[in-house]
Amino acid sequence: MDNQDLLKITEKFGSPIYVYDSEKIISQYKRLQNAFKPVKKLKINYAVKALSNLSILRLFEKLGAGLDTVSIQEVQLGLEAGMDPSRIIYTPNGVSLEEIEEVAALGVQINIDNLSILEQFGSRHPKVPVCIRINPHVMAGGNTNISVGHIDSKFGISIHQIPHLMRIVENTGMNVNGIHMHTGSDILDIEVFLYASEILFDTARNFKDLEFIDFGSGFKVPYKEGDIETDIEELGEKLSTRFTEFCKSYGKDLTLAFEPGKFLVSEAGKFLARVNVIKQTTSTVFAGVDSGFNHLIRPMLYGSRHEIHNISNPAGKERFYSVVGYICETDTFASNRRITEIKEGDILAFDNAGAYSFSMASNYNSRYRPAEILWYKGEAHLIRKKENFKDLTRGQIPFHFGENPSE
Ligand SMILES: *Cc1c(COP(=O)(O)O)cnc(C)c1O
Repeated sequence: MDNQDLLKITEKFGSPIYVYDSEKIISQYKRLQNAFKPVKKLKINYAVKALSNLSILRLFEKLGAGLDTVSIQEVQLGLEAGMDPSRIIYTPNGVSLEEIEEVAALGVQINIDNLSILEQFGSRHPKVPVCIRINPHVMAGGNTNISVGHIDSKFGISIHQIPHLMRIVENTGMNVNGIHMHTGSDILDIEVFLYASEILFDTARNFKDLEFIDFGSGFKVPYKEGDIETDIEELGEKLSTRFTEFCKSYGKDLTLAFEPGKFLVSEAGKFLARVNVIKQTTSTVFAGVDSGFNHLIRPMLYGSRHEIHNISNPAGKERFYSVVGYICETDTFASNRRITEIKEGDILAFDNAGAYSFSMASNYNSRYRPAEILWYKGEAHLIRKKENFKDLTRGQIPFHFGENPSE
């Protein structure tokens, strides 16, 4: 997928637009599989919330992956994409007992992350196997917005509550078949991850009928040249060894599960937007594009960096630009960024637009959500149409005020 391919896509399908390179998704999936080759049973569950287009889910179905879901709607999307319920795990936080029961009835693996729901679910459905989400209280990354394993996190059951957890399991006679952790996005330090894994192993020893241990995700991907990324190969080598040792001492070959989102799809995605206006102020040159945080909110919400390339003029002289959107609010994609010279009408390509990009898009400012393209075997396929005016008004019920509403 080169610049010419991307430009052709905007000519044919318009802008702004999301493009996903299936080859990159496949190679990331295989890379993860290879890294954990020594493990007898490996399960990779793709985290649907990163990018939930049905065609992407179908690709993962074909690759043999499972799905990690956080809502009943994500489960339904997975089923719609042809995924067998037995290949789906449901890892919600703060959802109702009713929704959890509904998902369990579909034959999906349930993962419970609080003692209150665990006690209620176990009392009512002691035969349904349940996975338990543990909070190992380990800080991964360091940014509290994306670290969900620390002490004040709302996620998981604290390891300090294991005695209470064991009492609930005994009292209800429920079947715990998995232990899970997800310490949050951006694992930089493999040692920290391995440390958390030891806590998970210690917890796992309390349960006699486990089938799998799920290590969650949080693998870091590079956002720019020279960025540090999780060394999957090193993690694979070290964790595989520890996991195999654990299985030996446990007396059973368990499945090692992961549930990456970002690692599998982030780098596969490009977001393409057209420059509407170049505006020079006393201090800055702004490039204003035909998009905003309604389409790509990560830079504003998380401060994440997306490399931006002017694919209409890739060999031009570099200048400093602030790239901003058309939303009537501050929506800066990048400030003071070195980009090859931009003219009005040029197409800018944003990197790392596969994960948490389209899936977080909205209709703010009553703009349409963009189209999505899958690049597969050298060809562009439309996998979601751009929205239209009907989509904006769908579901609205115009209220009729009668003659004199002010009287
Ligand atoms: C979001 C999420 C993931 C995926 O995280 P990435 O950083 O995108 O890999 C995995 N597991 C759970 C429970 C999640 O909520």
